[in-house]
Amino acid sequence: MIYPIRPRRGFKLSSIISFVVILSVLITIFISTIIGYNTERKSLFNNTIEMNGIAALNLSKTTESLVLSMQKSLQVTSDYFSDVELSDKNVLSQLDFFMGTSTYFNSLTIVDKNGVIVSTSPNNLNLIGSVPTSEASLESLRLKKPYISKPFHAITDRLIVLVSHPIFDPKGNYKGFVGGSIYLQQANIFRDILGVQFNTTNGSYFYVVDSSGNLIYHPDKDRISDNVSSNPVVQKLMQGLSGAQRVINTQGQSFLAGFAPVPAAGWGIVSQTPQDHITKLSANVIREMMKFSAPFVLLLVALSFWLSRKLAHPLNRLATYASRLSGGDETLKPLTADVSWNYEANQLVDTVALAFNKLREQKEMLHAEANTDALTGLTNRRTMGAITSLWKQQGTPFSVIIMDLDHFKSVNDRHGHQMGDEVLKFVANVMLDEKGAEDYCCRFGGEEFTMLLPHASEEEAMRAAERIRLQIEQAVTPIGEAITMSLGVAAFPDASEEVFELFKYADQALYQAKRDGRNRTVAYSSLLNMTRI
Ligand code: GH3
Ligand code: MG
Ligand code: MG
Repeated sequence: MIYPIRPRRGFKLSSIISFVVILSVLITIFISTIIGYNTERKSLFNNTIEMNGIAALNLSKTTESLVLSMQKSLQVTSDYFSDVELSDKNVLSQLDFFMGTSTYFNSLTIVDKNGVIVSTSPNNLNLIGSVPTSEASLESLRLKKPYISKPFHAITDRLIVLVSHPIFDPKGNYKGFVGGSIYLQQANIFRDILGVQFNTTNGSYFYVVDSSGNLIYHPDKDRISDNVSSNPVVQKLMQGLSGAQRVINTQGQSFLAGFAPVPAAGWGIVSQTPQDHITKLSANVIREMMKFSAPFVLLLVALSFWLSRKLAHPLNRLATYASRLSGGDETLKPLTADVSWNYEANQLVDTVALAFNKLREQKEMLHAEANTDALTGLTNRRTMGAITSLWKQQGTPFSVIIMDLDHFKSVNDRHGHQMGDEVLKFVANVMLDEKGAEDYCCRFGGEEFTMLLPHASEEEAMRAAERIRLQIEQAVTPIGEAITMSLGVAAFPDASEEVFELFKYADQALYQAKRDGRNRTVAYSSLLNMTRI
């Protein structure tokens, strides 16, 4: 019986193993990437905050000494003008001289005690004689002390910071002040010193605020003079504190900032790095990690494919075999055990191979039983029919002998049916002893037997039949007395080209033998010639 091959259900073992391995590799990579990313981010975060703290401190010291030097330089200048008449024509060139000796200020101005500009360097704006009205100038005149202003718009509309120093005559009378201007939005000393610190590789930069939180230096010129006092870091600077922390600036961006005050000027320095940049750098590290691990991952995946196939191979083979077996594949050879690495697979294949081979043996046995006679082990009538049909189809000439035991009923009657069976087995063995290599012995039914002799003429079959008859006649039988049989012979295709007719004719010959007195052989051809043996 042929069973339909079932559609495949479930996944292949090798696919499942590969899937599990790849999944665990990916999960491992994912987890280690997340951990790597977070570790890297945290350490970059801490390092950047710390670096900015140090940078702000260093720069605050530099700026502190810069401011002190500026004030010192103004003091030297004002000392010089202590006993010089400020209205003197030479003041202009003398101021130019001081202007030339330092790079601190964008311009120098001398304002007399009445608040009138008496000299400027460089003198290119025609300001001499005018009265500066700025808060800074008035404050400087009022204080009569060294002074640093907030950023303000001068008469020239420039945004400047004024650093001033009073001028006293030798008797100690106030004469006015000498002021150094820093043009905040143009090239200036801050830009020279702080600008070079601008770090483009990690996006870090510095800015400087005054004591009110106004920006007096920022790499973005447009932001100079903006008030950023709401910035938490600037608020700490205004309290004279230093430190480092994460901060959201007035524009809503997140920075890692270090900050330190400049006590001499009341200013504060902030060094900061955008937090975005840390995220980008961390992402870079992850990309590098991925690039580095990609070949190993590919290797691992390939290895897992190979390994899973190798491990699943015996089971796969088993599954294919079972599938072919249930599909009724007759060409299937017995399953051989195939040693694999996997203990369970080996055991399974061995066991299943054993079971399959047992099954096959049983099937073959059943097949044999279906084709043989149970009592004698001879070919049965059904198989005999198949053999003769095949020979006919192939055009193979053959002869048939039909035999029937004489007076067998009386054997049964006298010795019992069981002894009768023994006699039948005995006759079968005699036939098997006498048959040629290619001949078939068959139990035709009851106590009738046949023998098929391929390529044998009627004459040759007659000789074989006689041999058997004589053997039986002379043999010592299980019942201890001689038995005899009658035989009929016919040849194909001489007697008939139809198999059923051939048997009919052989049977006629047999009955002729019975009629002639039994224990003899009759050829069908002799019935036609009426010749008897
Ligand atoms: P004849 O010489 O005319 O053939 O006489 P016979 O007694 O042999 O007559 P027949 O062939 O008609 O009888 C067949 C007998 O064979 C009937 C039955 O008792 C016996 N017989 C048939 N099959 C078996 C069998 O399987 N076992 C046994 N023990 N006897 C069988
Ligand atoms: Mg009979
Ligand atoms: Mg008989």
